[in-house]
Amino acid sequence: MVTIKKALLIFDLDDTLVHSRIDFQTLGQWVREQVKSRKLTELSDEELSTMSVSQMLHLVEAFDRRRGTGHAPELWRKVEEAEMAGAMRATVEEGAQAVLQQLQEEGYLLTILTNNSRRVAETVLTRFSLLPYIDLVLTRDEVKVLKPDPTGLLMLKEKYKDRAARMFYIGDIWIDGAAANQAGIPFIGFNCSDPRNIRMVDNVSNLAELARLVEEICSAGKGGLS
Ligand SMILES: [Mg+2]
Repeated sequence: MVTIKKALLIFDLDDTLVHSRIDFQTLGQWVREQVKSRKLTELSDEELSTMSVSQMLHLVEAFDRRRGTGHAPELWRKVEEAEMAGAMRATVEEGAQAVLQQLQEEGYLLTILTNNSRRVAETVLTRFSLLPYIDLVLTRDEVKVLKPDPTGLLMLKEKYKDRAARMFYIGDIWIDGAAANQAGIPFIGFNCSDPRNIRMVDNVSNLAELARLVEEICSAGKGGLS
C-alpha cells in the first residue's frame, strides 16, 4: 500500500472545481412545493426553507418507506434532469486542470465528494479533462445519506485512513463544512460566503491560493485529523 506523501484532498464539485449553472434556488423551490402539495411532511414552510434539496429528498424517502409510496425516485429524476441541464452549461474554475496536475505531482491524492449523481459528475469532469487527476469520485449513487450528513466523508476517511496522515475537505457552502466538521476532517472554504457556524481552516478565493495554503500547512506538519 502506497502512503500518501502530503495529504488527501477531498473536493466538492459544484462551485469548487466546476460551475454547473444549476439553478439551485428554483430547484429548491420546486422540490419544496412538491413536498408541500403532496403532503409528504409535517414540517412548516419555514423549516423546509432552511433545508437543502437532498435533505428534503431524504424526508421524502423516509415518507416512502413508511407508506410504501414512490415519490422520491420521481423527484430525484427531476433533480437529475436539472443537474444534467446545468452540466451542459457548466464552466470550469480558473486553472483547475493545471492546479490539480500540480497537486498530484507534488504528492497529494485527490478525490471528490459530491451530492450530484455519478452520470452528471463524470460528464463535467470528462468535459473539462479533470478525471485523470482524481483517484476516486464519490457521488450520491454510492452515499446513502448526503451532505450535510458526514456519511460520504466518513467513507473516505475510513478508506484512506492507513494511507493519509492528513485530510482536508474543500467546498463552497455550509453543508460541506457541516459534513467535514462532523466527520472530524479539517474544512477549507472555497469562496464560502455563508459559513453559518462551521469551523474553517481558512476561506480561499481560488485554486492557486488553495494550493499554497495546503502546501504551507503540510510543510509545517499541521492539519492532522481531528
Ligand atoms: Mg458546491
